[in-house]
Amino acid sequence: MPRTISKILIANRGEIACRIIRTCQRLGIDTVAVYSSVDRYARHVALADAAECIGPPAPEKSYLNSDAILAAAKKHAVDAIHPGYGFLAENADFAQACADDGLIFIGAPVAAMRLMASKSAAKNTLQAAGVPVVPGYHGDNQGSDVLFREAEKIGWPVLIKAVAGGGGKGMKVVHNADEFHEALASAKNEARKAFGDDRVILEKFITRPRHLEVQIFSDQHGQHVHLFERDCSAQRRYQKIIEEAPAAGLPAKTREAMLQAALKVAKAVDYAGAGTVEFILDADNRFYFLEMNTRLQVEHRVTELITGTDLVAWQIQVAEGRPLPLSQDAIACCGHAIEARVYAEDPDNDFLPSVGVLDRVQFPPHQSGRLLVDSGVRQADRISVYYDPMIAKLVVWGETRENAIAAMNQALAETLISGVKTNLASLGEVLNNPLFLDNCLYTNAIDQGVLDGDTMDEMPLPHFMAAIIAHQLHAFDDSAMASEAAPIAWALFGPDWRPLTLRHQDRLLQIAYRIANETLFIRSLAQTILSEDGQAEPLTDLTGRFSWPLDWDFKVHEAPEAYHVIIGHHRQVFEKQRHDSVAQADGDARLVLAPMPGELLQVFVKPGEKVEQGQTLAVMEAMKMELSLKAPRSACIDTVHHRPGDILQAGDVIFTLKPDESDVDSLQGEAS
Ligand code: ADP
Repeated sequence: MPRTISKILIANRGEIACRIIRTCQRLGIDTVAVYSSVDRYARHVALADAAECIGPPAPEKSYLNSDAILAAAKKHAVDAIHPGYGFLAENADFAQACADDGLIFIGAPVAAMRLMASKSAAKNTLQAAGVPVVPGYHGDNQGSDVLFREAEKIGWPVLIKAVAGGGGKGMKVVHNADEFHEALASAKNEARKAFGDDRVILEKFITRPRHLEVQIFSDQHGQHVHLFERDCSAQRRYQKIIEEAPAAGLPAKTREAMLQAALKVAKAVDYAGAGTVEFILDADNRFYFLEMNTRLQVEHRVTELITGTDLVAWQIQVAEGRPLPLSQDAIACCGHAIEARVYAEDPDNDFLPSVGVLDRVQFPPHQSGRLLVDSGVRQADRISVYYDPMIAKLVVWGETRENAIAAMNQALAETLISGVKTNLASLGEVLNNPLFLDNCLYTNAIDQGVLDGDTMDEMPLPHFMAAIIAHQLHAFDDSAMASEAAPIAWALFGPDWRPLTLRHQDRLLQIAYRIANETLFIRSLAQTILSEDGQAEPLTDLTGRFSWPLDWDFKVHEAPEAYHVIIGHHRQVFEKQRHDSVAQADGDARLVLAPMPGELLQVFVKPGEKVEQGQTLAVMEAMKMELSLKAPRSACIDTVHHRPGDILQAGDVIFTLKPDESDVDSLQGEAS
């Protein structure tokens, strides 16, 4: 008998909790959020109809605290619990506890979860069902000599994996016999610490594999369908960063065989709900079963975009005991979708999580069936040490793979995040890497350094400037001529020089350019590095000369506030700076800078004074021209750094504004 679900508790946080709540709202289902004490003002809490604190920040005391979650479910009289992904999503004991309490667990059957939690049990079962698995050893005998002999039988290189593994932990590649015992000890050690179980399996290590996976869906009446495959080969440290659907360049026969193998897995384990069957594909297009994820995946959105489905709605329908919404024949694959995971992490520090307050969070403005942004954070939120540092998923759809890649480039260009370091630039590098463009990115390519050597140091800044100029020439023609920096350019170099000011990392770049005799000349007009204390330092590396028009292969994506320039594998971001009389402010609008060299004539405001956006703060004179410096936003003046009579360089800090706290206020107002 179908049982209607009218209230769901979401036992998760971040983007996935928000995403589930949205579907519930659309379906008219009430939602209850749970949160740890640091998440009191988090976005998912604000979105839900009700919310309950389940403990302190540490996950084992809150989002993994089954007792507290079940107590909240009871208190709010919910019908069902949706676990999202991660945390308790694949915890069979929790699913069983929900059932014991009379609650519907919106997830996989307990038996399937238990089976798939063990890589060895899963492989043995599926091998017997005729599903191809990677050649290897999945046995119970864990003696190191036995394992060594089995590894020799498989042939080097061999991959050691934890039986209870996940997230790439407890995995070691062994290239030859000499390395085996040390790698085994280290894998066992890691597995014991991460999973409390040091048993391992051995697999043939497939060199240069692609990671493909099939989205399957089953109801409680024995119906199983697939919703095509995803390619998740763009990984770092065995973790996915870019996913797409369908997989490009896959022979039709291989694809069909893989989809059918996935359905065989679903049947063999008597599955129900949303599941993902993961495979690796070797260089000869042979695929092997890797594991099955008994939950919704992070990357389910690309499947939704190519099939026009809402998989959370499907999960709820199946959990209610109703049949699958569509039969296999009615599920079609249309166009191409790509997802990029934006993480708070430091590319210069081995991609370790970067914690801090998100001073600025700006996503592409118009969401539609072509672009989705799933995020659990808002401006002024904090990325903490406690949870996964994913800031957002950008998901795009295009008629073709090329269109989808172009749309993703644009989406990355329109995303601005400050306060923490992010992987935005490296996502762009992967997306524009020839291996990715040609569908031959393999899972360990990024770890092996295919992106290395692509840093901006190897491509001088004037090349990027030249690309921007080529892209924007006509737009600049008008605005540059009218700008106040134009006379400086003319005075310094001559009448046909045009100015251009951009901000790049910590530099304010003021250049002048001229096109004559099929040559583009770029010269430095005023260049400054903005150091922490706002001191200006001269730069000397900005002169360039190029054949015009440029005949190189480059792309410029223009966003409202920035240019993203891609030359070969190199990618750099340049924020626009306006040449008008509104004061130049830094990206956080906390600094008011001198837009050009000159003398400060008058200062109208004092520290502590409140000013309105556009209010004149000071007047300076440059090249016999008076220039009013206006407030970039309504704010309180923190510090006044100069006095009338001071001679300023372009980029000198004149005022520091107090941080904008209105976001924090409104957020608290909304949540309480
Ligand atoms: P986990 O459960 O830790 O995520 P998986 O078994 O799903 O581990 O594998 C994660 C990733 O490791 C795969 O996507 C693939 O990149 C790589 N991998 C796994 N098995 C092999 C193998 N036998 N050969 C080469 N690479 C592999």
